[in-house]
Amino acid sequence: MKTIYTFGDGHAEGRADMRDLLGGKGANLAEMNLIGVPVPPGFTITTEICRIYNEQGRQAATDLIKEDVKKSVEHIEKLTGFKFNDPKNPQLVSVRSGAPVSMPGMMDTVLNLGINDGVAETIAAQTGNPRFAWDSYRRFVQMYGDVVLGMKPKSKQDIDPFEEIIEKVKKEKGVKFDTELDVDDLKKLVVLFKAAVKENTGKDFPTDAWDQLWGAIYAVFDSWNNDRAILYRRMNHIPEEYGTAVNVQAMVYGNMGNTSATGVCFSRDAGTGENIFNGEYLINAQGEDVVAGVRTPQQIMTEGSRRWAKLQGVSEEERAAKYPSLEESMPECAKQLVEIQHKLEQHYKDMQDMEFTIQNGKLWLLQTRNGKRTGAAMVKIAMDLLREGMIDEKTVLKRMEPGKLDELLHPVFDKAAMQQAKVVAKGLPASPGAATGRIVFFADDAEEWASHKKQVIMVRMETSPEDLRGMSVAQGILTARGGMTSHAAVVARGMGKCCVSGAGEIHVDYKTKTVEMGGKTFKEGDWISLNGSTGEVYEGLVSTVDADLSGDFGAVMNLADKYTKMVVYANADSPRDARTARKLGACGIGLCRTEHMFFEGDRIKAMREMIIAPDEESRRVALDKLLPLQRGDFEGLFEAMDGCEVTIRLLDPPLHEFVPHQLSTQKELAEETGISLERVKAICSDLEEFNPMLGHRGCRLGNTYPEITEMQARAIIEAALNVKERGIDPHPKIMVPLVGVLPEIRMQADIINATAQKVFAERGKTVAYKVGTMIEIPRAALVADQIAEVADFFSFGTNDLTQMTFGYSRDDAPKFLGHYKAQGILKDDPFEILDQEGVGQLVEMGTRLGRKTKPELNVGICGEHGGEPSSVKFCASLNMNYVSCSPYRVPIARLAAAQYAVEHEK
Ligand code: PEP
Ligand code: MG
Repeated sequence: MKTIYTFGDGHAEGRADMRDLLGGKGANLAEMNLIGVPVPPGFTITTEICRIYNEQGRQAATDLIKEDVKKSVEHIEKLTGFKFNDPKNPQLVSVRSGAPVSMPGMMDTVLNLGINDGVAETIAAQTGNPRFAWDSYRRFVQMYGDVVLGMKPKSKQDIDPFEEIIEKVKKEKGVKFDTELDVDDLKKLVVLFKAAVKENTGKDFPTDAWDQLWGAIYAVFDSWNNDRAILYRRMNHIPEEYGTAVNVQAMVYGNMGNTSATGVCFSRDAGTGENIFNGEYLINAQGEDVVAGVRTPQQIMTEGSRRWAKLQGVSEEERAAKYPSLEESMPECAKQLVEIQHKLEQHYKDMQDMEFTIQNGKLWLLQTRNGKRTGAAMVKIAMDLLREGMIDEKTVLKRMEPGKLDELLHPVFDKAAMQQAKVVAKGLPASPGAATGRIVFFADDAEEWASHKKQVIMVRMETSPEDLRGMSVAQGILTARGGMTSHAAVVARGMGKCCVSGAGEIHVDYKTKTVEMGGKTFKEGDWISLNGSTGEVYEGLVSTVDADLSGDFGAVMNLADKYTKMVVYANADSPRDARTARKLGACGIGLCRTEHMFFEGDRIKAMREMIIAPDEESRRVALDKLLPLQRGDFEGLFEAMDGCEVTIRLLDPPLHEFVPHQLSTQKELAEETGISLERVKAICSDLEEFNPMLGHRGCRLGNTYPEITEMQARAIIEAALNVKERGIDPHPKIMVPLVGVLPEIRMQADIINATAQKVFAERGKTVAYKVGTMIEIPRAALVADQIAEVADFFSFGTNDLTQMTFGYSRDDAPKFLGHYKAQGILKDDPFEILDQEGVGQLVEMGTRLGRKTKPELNVGICGEHGGEPSSVKFCASLNMNYVSCSPYRVPIARLAAAQYAVEHEK
């Protein structure tokens, strides 16, 4: 087994495509050598050894690589002319981690390894720079103590034990900055650091270079399993078994004096995607100084430096004197760096994020990788590279991270304003975007304030359909309870409205109209701001700017449509949402939740009248009032979706969600209907259920009160006929919710068909329509072959299907899902990411059995998963006809579907 791959001086045993074995860093260090980029010589211990280390222990791994490590160190010595562990002519090395997938800052690094008292003296003499020698030494003891010997601060509150010593020495000397410490101070620090190590670990600090090296190698392997690395992997779905490689490399020094420097740079702008080479550097500094924020880093390019100065309010004279660009301070190195970044980008055909060091005027590259970027930069860079002929269309699609498109669709916080913003609470990022407004607690107040052109944020314990009107006029919604599929989250996403849900730490008091967050009490009317993409809540007004849907975004979407095999519909309940969805590329409506239409204006009154009606006759009177309203809604939808399918679902929620719960509104209802208040109260409490989600809802309503289904079917068919007369091309699909047994759908289909025939006879005209069902009860998936005898189409309601398959309440699960994820019991929230292993089996089975009965059965999904990339790809793998999701997720779903198509091309 080859355990180690060496590189240096234009040669390398590895290559860029060996990242699984060498990690991203190791593979690219090898590749840079091969294409003539100057890289300090070194070697990479493979990820395979890390796996052996984790599975078989330290000794097994050491036995395997011991000889190879020795030989590889000799390889470095041959190329540099220095010797490891030789006090007279010492070679120092860096030891750095590097996993197959980049995990920035999660694992450990040790620099200047191989130094001890004797070596430090030699370096001081050789370089004529004792300060450099002793500064390198104290940095090494500090880093080694921290990374290898476990002397990290114990908690967030604790200060770093080494920093504590530095502070003490500075205080004694009466100076402020590290740079003011002289050689004797640095020597003193080394002594004090070592004493601290001895006190803490009971052992002397290792002075032998080999002992130091092995300690560092083990520490890098161990860092694969540190808490933050485990958490990062879990959050980013990186497999546990990958392991990290270890890169050992000859040290080059950016801190050797004023002809030395270190920096990071990007071949394009990672924020905007503009093709502008940019980066930062510091003269006479080492690695972490650039990012540590102790000194102000300078810009690499003069143009960037001038832009930076302008933003900082620094005059041109001051800039040129104090903060010159690398182009100005080291023109030769800058020129070389510009050439190298160009070469690397051309080679990797993507934006590069690079680290470099200049030692005594000589430039070295220490790392290159494809740079992380914002959603906007992702789109622009890929399209630019396509136009530059560097990549093809399919590569553009593969390069997209669908979830990142969100950032392009919603208003965003102004960058400058964000820097001042103070976080007061955190919840779930339920619906992306940025919102700022005054706190209101009730829908009525939201409407009232909004009518006076005031921006409001609705703050609720949780929302219910009653809050819909308030939500629709609010800038954003904040709730204390509820998960990613809570009412607030689903509705807000549908509206494209920013929402933070389940912010458990906030305390809402409706009585006093106050909310406690971050130790402060906020009243109605106080300003707050929400970041629906991160779940953060900020105090006060944070200004926002509108999203810019640039041409490149449209171009990427066109490419998606060119390659996709599955179309995307939208979940939309109103003509306005339908129009938004169409603009964002939806080619139909996959779910219109009709219940949302019953809350607008006075409709709720007719609805309540219907619910409390004592008999069928009075129920029909109330339904007759609702009929024209519903018909009007549907006409609007058909019009907005002219030529496209519109799937309208019959009434689904339990009736108690519609009746008034407050005494004042109960009184109002009693007065309006002439029914006694006592009776109204009794009916309302009769409708309460122990498990409403498993209660009298869905088609169970339509089968017990057929007149409700009749009214809705009539409204749909009449609306279709009406718009047809106006030259519009309607394609109605009537969808029955919550079917579990065949007779349920059969009964509903009979009512719908009979009603349609009746309307056709009355009008002397017909229109084509389809009758189908949601598959959202596990039993429906199990008997899908029977259900397909009646249904023209299936739409998987994976919200309810997940709820019933796991037995987790959609509304209550957030209380424990956080713990479950933290403990690794669940990898993801199954209401957010479809559980392909379990719920997915039912989806697969339902699709297969349904198509066994009806090979041409039209199948889609309309649960929240329809807009989540991995779930969309799963649906594509089952050859579904469409996925349906909230309007603002339509582009994400389109992209994910296209990615599946290009990733699985035959
Ligand atoms: C579902 O259950 O997945 C669904 C789309 O219906 P709802 O969310 O309205 O229950
Ligand atoms: Mg459902």
